[in-house]
Amino acid sequence: MGHMSDAATAARLRCTRCLRAQSSCICQWIRPTVHQVEVLILQHPLEVYNAKGSARLLHLSLPHSRLLVGEIFAEADVRAGSSRLVLLYPDTPQDAAVGLPAAPALPPDWLQDPVQLCLVVLDGTWRKSRKLLFQNPLLQQLPRLALRGMPPSQYRIRKAHKPDQLSTLEASCAALAQLEGGEGEAARYQPLLDAFDGFVDQQLAYRSG
Ligand SMILES: [Zn+2]
Repeated sequence: MGHMSDAATAARLRCTRCLRAQSSCICQWIRPTVHQVEVLILQHPLEVYNAKGSARLLHLSLPHSRLLVGEIFAEADVRAGSSRLVLLYPDTPQDAAVGLPAAPALPPDWLQDPVQLCLVVLDGTWRKSRKLLFQNPLLQQLPRLALRGMPPSQYRIRKAHKPDQLSTLEASCAALAQLEGGEGEAARYQPLLDAFDGFVDQQLAYRSG
């Protein structure tokens, strides 16, 4: 084995915080953000080292968030003492046709006390998050939150990304603002969303450079 240059060594060392190579560390984009609703991010194992993924930046910016990696999740790990779990998931009218039970309605009184809520976010492509839903009956039993009236995504780095599809980070911030009471709350997430713009630029620069 030869002697590695300093540059090669730096590229191989991982930042312990964001888990990326130190040369492409994204910690400068972390924006600690005040939020009321807890967040649980369930990440498909294939997403962990995906450079385009936004879940870890989200997790590092939200103090009341947890990130679990896996395909099958134990109920105790998911619930972790929280009884009011809400799954961030779009309306999917085809569910019954593929054998999924109808998700229960979100109890209106839950929205009156956001601090008791835990937003469950599936991180992965549409196909992977769909698979997580199929493989975890617990997730099928959760009331769902679908996003309303979303602005176009800034997420320009995923190929074949439709304008109405948001990154995990953008979707989660929008969902939190929705659960926590709307317009006034949305402003609290703006610094993180602005930083995410910088993150996207950084990833695009790597791809073209
Ligand atoms: Zn880092």
